Amino acid sequence: MFCPKCGLEVEDGLEACPRCGEGFGNVKTTKRPSLFVPIALLGVGALLIIASLALFPEVVGAHLTIFDIGTF
Ligand SMILES: [Zn+2]
Repeated sequence: MFCPKCGLEVEDGLEACPRCGEGFGNVKTTKRPSLFVPIALLGVGALLIIASLALFPEVVGAHLTIFDIGTF
């Protein structure tokens, strides 16, 4: 990358320009993609399914008995 202040070519990951001292503090945060949000949504969805199975076992049991009658 290039320093926005003096134009010196500097290595990626440096926190400041070695020539003029311009800080690149915001470079690291813009690099990271937001992978945490979809993973968190998946976790919440799995928790909701598990909670529904735990809170309403009779509903799941009714579905299972209907399925068994249908197969016989
Ligand atoms: Zn510079």
